Amino acid sequence: MAKIQQLSQHVANLIAAGEVVERPASVVKELLENAVDAGATKITVEIRDGGMTFLRVTDNGCGMSPEDARTAFLRHATSKLRTAEDLAAISTMGFRGEALAAIASVSRIDLLTKTSEVVLGTSLSLEAGVITEESEAGCPDGTTIIVRDLFFNTPARMKFMKSDTVEGSRVAAAVQLQALAHPEVAIQFLRDGKQILTTPGTGDLEAAVYCVYGRESGKMVPVDSKWEGYHLTGYVCKPTDSRPSRSMQTFFVNDRPVKSRLLIAALEEAYRNRIMGGKFPSCVLHLHLPASAVDVNVHPAKTEVKFLNEKAVFDCIHYGVLGALNKTPDRPQVQFKPNVTPTAAPAPTAKVEPAAPKKTTQGSFFRTMGPEEFKNFTAAIKDPPQPSRLTAAAVAAAVERDTAVTIHAPKAPIPVPPAPEPAPKAEPLPQPEPEQQALPMPEQLPWRVVGELYNSYILVEQGEEAFLIDKHAAHERILFDKLKENQEAITGQYLLKPVTVRLSPEYCGALISNLPMLQALGFDLEEFGDNTVLLRQVPMDLSTDGAAEAVEELAANLLAGRQQDAQSIRDEILHTVACKAAIKAGWHTDPAELEVLVRQVMEREDLKYCPHGRPICITLSKKQLEKQFKRS
Ligand code: ADP
Ligand code: MG
Repeated sequence: MAKIQQLSQHVANLIAAGEVVERPASVVKELLENAVDAGATKITVEIRDGGMTFLRVTDNGCGMSPEDARTAFLRHATSKLRTAEDLAAISTMGFRGEALAAIASVSRIDLLTKTSEVVLGTSLSLEAGVITEESEAGCPDGTTIIVRDLFFNTPARMKFMKSDTVEGSRVAAAVQLQALAHPEVAIQFLRDGKQILTTPGTGDLEAAVYCVYGRESGKMVPVDSKWEGYHLTGYVCKPTDSRPSRSMQTFFVNDRPVKSRLLIAALEEAYRNRIMGGKFPSCVLHLHLPASAVDVNVHPAKTEVKFLNEKAVFDCIHYGVLGALNKTPDRPQVQFKPNVTPTAAPAPTAKVEPAAPKKTTQGSFFRTMGPEEFKNFTAAIKDPPQPSRLTAAAVAAAVERDTAVTIHAPKAPIPVPPAPEPAPKAEPLPQPEPEQQALPMPEQLPWRVVGELYNSYILVEQGEEAFLIDKHAAHERILFDKLKENQEAITGQYLLKPVTVRLSPEYCGALISNLPMLQALGFDLEEFGDNTVLLRQVPMDLSTDGAAEAVEELAANLLAGRQQDAQSIRDEILHTVACKAAIKAGWHTDPAELEVLVRQVMEREDLKYCPHGRPICITLSKKQLEKQFKRS
């Protein structure tokens, strides 16, 4: 081995640059953080060619003295940290004193900076980290840094750069992230001369979120909760607006964007059983906690953090988001075609408007109903319901809704859970019962069930609003909650005649290897040879008809859920049981049973989505109808 030598400053900087300066976006992130730390209230970022040839960040912060300007480009030169103790309570974005040295070592830099105490500022030029020019210069208070020809002296790194378009988009994402991190700073971003983003810098997160996400942000749910000295604020999406990836999950810890599995897990826990598999919630969440409760010095780019008390952090996010979701009145409104009422969609304004109706070019009739319900609804309109109990539309709805639906009405009465209040005997309709309204919703107006549409949707009137309740979704949710609440074994009913179910070998194996769990859920089955299982007992709520089907679905869930935790597998199984046991769209349901169902939906604030994440109830207001009929 060769003789040990200390690395030169330049080589050390290049190594550090490898960690901190990965691409133009990382340069922008560091320069933005420096500007924020300098107390800037206004920052402008400009790039050309994806930031590869030209990148400028201008701020109106405190600026630097000529001496500081020179020192700033030395490695481990920082004004933000003096002692080891300081490291335990960092309140600035930067503290490592590495960024400027690293950036300078792989580019050409021009710096212009001035503090408010002096008349003339300082102009510095550097090439590969070496100062090539220095002079006094007239300039405004604050700092401007221009970074040119990034990686001009490190061709190996240059090779890893993607197209200017890709790099430019990454810069845009980095600016967006800082804009959301610091709503108190007015941030402007120009890409090849075009303005891409401006935030007002009012300190209002809502405004920053609006600037970044546009009007979509109006549909998000505000979060604001305190938990053991931690403060969580921000916005989360409604379960129905979940996304196919986690790309829209943004977390800040003490204003620093972070990536954290803990935070993701806590967020997603709040959405458990509200969103479909393969979908993910989106969020912009700020967690503020004492600087001593978090270690930010665990990653060169400071994107990872370590929490002192992970449980408290998890609970803070989980319960904060859960509370926000449960609090929001979340009954999507029926949406009418925008061209029927051209004034219905207000022009975009600078302010976020909660749930502003969105113009859809498709002219979809029920935007918030979802395509499935919409299809059923329009089909039913074209094809008016027949007097028979199962109309074509209702069957279509049932088939759409439940792939495994049976068209026969159930033989046994449908099990309906008891009402939470001293069970009021269901009476003939209509039936306004103001004094029997339960407490959870204050000042609740009396309601009445008007009837049922297409054997699927219960129409309820309450004051100036009407509700359409998806009876299957509602019942499924209620059963699911009941099953879930009951953490002990679920009562089973013995079948008079055991049912044999033939399955694939994998399915059989999945069931047999999970017998104790299935038993706890009310199933009693045994291997019957030849890829067949014998079903002796099924959960109380499940009709014997659906048992075989449910068992097959359970096996599929168990197989698919191999990697999941026990809780998720149990939830999946409960979904299946609840779905199979719930009253079906398209079936006739006794009005008294509907009444009990409606009571729960109207009185329980948490009944918003079926366990698959479909809405249970949508609103149709008197106002909306008056508009449609040109009465207002
Ligand atoms: P760090 O931010 O970790 O301290 P940097 O290398 O990013 O390290 O910056 C070094 C120092 O340069 C900072 O501590 C700060 O004093 C000064 N500095 C950098 N950018 C600015 C700016 N935009 N305005 C004022 N001072 C700055
Ligand atoms: Mg810095």
